[in-house]
Amino acid sequence: MGGSRTMAGTKPGRCRAVSKSGKPCGAAVVAVSGMCAWHAPEWAERRRVWSAKGGTARSNQARAKKQLPAGVLTIDQLRGVVGITIAKVLAGTTEPAVANAIANLARAYGSLSEAAKAEELAARLDELETVAGRRGAS
Ligand SMILES: [Zn+2]
Repeated sequence: MGGSRTMAGTKPGRCRAVSKSGKPCGAAVVAVSGMCAWHAPEWAERRRVWSAKGGTARSNQARAKKQLPAGVLTIDQLRGVVGITIAKVLAGTTEPAVANAIANLARAYGSLSEAAKAEELAARLDELETVAGRRGAS
């Protein structure tokens, strides 16, 4: 018997904190406490800043999902509306002006969806850059 293991199942260079599921965290150690960026007590302030940012993004997403049943179209539904409108214009049952308006709105809707995706990616990238930057500095 013997050895210098601090906790069963933990590897050197890996976070020794135990996750909510009861398993060792296992993330790369970044702090002198021997823990990862998510568990190290000395990184609490950094985490608070990240989660404030991430929380905003998450709650926006949740809000966006909740609003869907209240009349916001998914991209598939939007495609359906555009398809139906094209058919109606061809059949002569919809005014071209209405079809133009729908086409414009569909374009705007698509652009907004793209912008929202880009915004979310930018927020994630920010978070990663923060982590990478701190690692490089220490
Ligand atoms: Zn950890």
